[in-house]
Order: sequence, then C-alpha cells, then structure tokens
Amino acid sequence: MNIKHHLDEATMVSYAAGSMSQAMALVVACHISVCPACRERVNQSEAIGGMLLDSLDEAAISSDALDQILACLDSEPDLELEVISAPAPAQSRKSSDCIPRPLQDCIGNSLDDLEWKRIVPGVYFYELPYKTEKGGVSRLMRIAPGKAMLPHTHNGNELTLILQGSFSDEMGRFTAGDVADLDSEIEHQPLVDSDVDCICLIATDAPLKFSTLLGKLVQPMTGF
Ligand SMILES: [Zn+2]
Repeated sequence: MNIKHHLDEATMVSYAAGSMSQAMALVVACHISVCPACRERVNQSEAIGGMLLDSLDEAAISSDALDQILACLDSEPDLELEVISAPAPAQSRKSSDCIPRPLQDCIGNSLDDLEWKRIVPGVYFYELPYKTEKGGVSRLMRIAPGKAMLPHTHNGNELTLILQGSFSDEMGRFTAGDVADLDSEIEHQPLVDSDVDCICLIATDAPLKFSTLLGKLVQPMTGF
C-alpha cells in the first residue's frame, strides 16, 4: 500500500487524548491499522500524554488526594465506556481484503453484502452506527467511476479513508489507504478516477456546506 496522504498532527493528538467522536476515531483507527508512519506518531503522542500526566501526578497530587479521588470513583455508578477496538497490525489482514480490521469488527468482511442506499445513480451510502457530534455522519460511500461528489466546504472537520478505488480533488489524488483530513477552510469536489467503484469511510462532525444550489437542494435527502 503506497500511502501519500496522512493524518494531521492535530487529529493524532486529539485521537491520542481520546477527545474525538467515536465516528472520527474509527477513521483514525482504520488508517493507523494500515499506516505504520501514522501509527508510530500516534504512539508518540500517547507516550507524551502519559508523561505529562505522570509529571502532573508527582507535582500536584499527594497520596492522600489520590486516596480521596479513588474513594470518589468507588462511589460512582459504573460508567459505560465507548470502546473502539484497538487497531490490529497490518500484517494480520488478509491481502484480499480492503476493509481495515477496526471496520471489519463493525460491518464484517464483505463490502458487497452491505445494504447500500442510493442517493443518485452511481452514488450510494451505508450508515454506520458510530456516534457523531452535532449533525455529523459516519458512513461508507460507494461512488461509481467518473462520478463526482457535489462541491462543498465543511462546518467542521471531515475525515475520509479510501478503502478501494481512487478519487482526485483540489488536494490531489487519493488511493487505497490514503486519508483526507480536512477542516472547515477547504472547498473540494472529489471526482472518482478509478475504473472500479471508489469506496470510502467518511466521518464528519458537522453538516457539510454545499456551495451549489443543487447541493443545497439534495442535502435534506442525503442527510449530509
Ligand atoms: Zn498515515
């Protein structure tokens, strides 16, 4: 896998700190399961975070204070934690399979067996059950060769991981394993330029902003 587009530093820090939505964290977990470079950088962020916590512990928390915190925790009802599976090492994946392990845990190992919903001819989506922040989505998109998404910007962040096929937009060309990590500044219109359907995992943390009238008209129907 020849990965050219990686995660932003801010995205990795947010993931390592556990402060992003479940939907966004799934895209990050899937990318780092196939990208050793980003996996290494996430590990470093986690290590730095751990060191900061350790130094805070030593400087500011007496053993007595720690006892009090533990007593408090004991008296709280059990919290239901939202856990996303840890990414598996890339080499444990079957070579024939383009679904990263964290996603397989959610949808199984066949993209064809999913019940895709049609938006317009050649453009399909599959809704994932992961939680998003206000108005965001967690979806697989399946777009036929030669089709384009409508041009749009974002009210928040958009993370897209390419599972199969490729597309090009104002940022460059994206193929399997690449991640498009976009913030609200960027306007783009992805065009599928592979000879197979392009299938992507997408998470947003707010609704998209379509820049054409057609986009605005179809937005209520597509849920983007
Ligand atoms: Zn990467």
